[in-house]
Amino acid sequence: MVEFCPECSNLLRKKKVNEKSFLACKCGYEREMESDTNKIKESIHKKKKYLKKNLVILSEEDKISANPRTRKECPKCGNLEAETWQVQIRSSDEPSTHFFKCTNCRYTWRE
Ligand SMILES: [Zn+2]
Ligand SMILES: [Zn+2]
Repeated sequence: MVEFCPECSNLLRKKKVNEKSFLACKCGYEREMESDTNKIKESIHKKKKYLKKNLVILSEEDKISANPRTRKECPKCGNLEAETWQVQIRSSDEPSTHFFKCTNCRYTWRE
């Protein structure tokens, strides 16, 4: 019996753990071979996988939307574009400090 991974289409390999037979893939997909428990195990596995994927997506979105860019002259090289972000230095009553980072020379300064 040859079966393929529903996640990545690689060939599933048989392995035995605690007298139970599993079909496993190198991507992490795993399925118990006893037919009556298959569906339950598979759905649990899919839920976990789904959560993992969501986490990855979140962290990558964070990276992409790092800092907005603004028109600002770099005091070091005169470049006219800088990343900007705000940092709350002390209590929340204080106005936050604006930071700038030159997109050309990476020089960072604050206002
Ligand atoms: Zn796979
Ligand atoms: Zn610069």
